[in-house]
Amino acid sequence: MGSGGLSAVATLRFEPAVRVRRLARAEEGDSAALALSASYRGERTISISFGALESVRQGPATRVVREACWLLKPWGREGRIELRALRRPTRRTLLEWLEDVDDVTVMAAARRKLVLLPAPDDRERAESTLSPTRRKMLRLADRDGEHCVWCSTYLTYESIHCTLDHIRCRSHGGADALDNLVLACAACNHGRADAPASSWLDACLTAGQDVDVDSVLRAIARSHAHHGRALRRAA
Ligand SMILES: [Zn+2]
Repeated sequence: MGSGGLSAVATLRFEPAVRVRRLARAEEGDSAALALSASYRGERTISISFGALESVRQGPATRVVREACWLLKPWGREGRIELRALRRPTRRTLLEWLEDVDDVTVMAAARRKLVLLPAPDDRERAESTLSPTRRKMLRLADRDGEHCVWCSTYLTYESIHCTLDHIRCRSHGGADALDNLVLACAACNHGRADAPASSWLDACLTAGQDVDVDSVLRAIARSHAHHGRALRRAA
């Protein structure tokens, strides 16, 4: 199905349609949101028809849209919400609300229909565009700080000299998992080569480097536990 697949037949086949008859009270917003989540089967587009509804209050209506956004999260920027059969007061209420929120954007607005894009937050958007390696670097910087654990040189996932350093070297069966990785600058990573992490820690300290000792010790413990689990699974 292409992006233009919004004909009536495709809509019926492809999308869960929730018909909202009354949305006056807060509880009715809740029950419509529940009906939506019960009918949702993982589709990319959620279509909500307001039927013969003359007007809605903002709270109950936005609750349903919020539920739709939440359900569509796995689709990221591909998710779509179509609000159909909108009378003017309903359309106006929804547009007023949409002006105030920055995580839902209006992709298209017709007289009786709005198409919304539930924009993931900036962080999710940034992560979704990264290569697996850069995504790991981002997570490691969150965990241990934005620096080389061996010399404290400032690094982010975007730095040219940022590398993934395996606590247990790959040549010794070390995994590519976060539990076996730290951020290191290219110089430290090459300097260490295949040296065990604990002896390289000693060497760095002896050389008077500004080592992030806490992060290194935690990483060694984590890597050790990870390797133990892997061995037990293999046994
Ligand atoms: Zn370094």
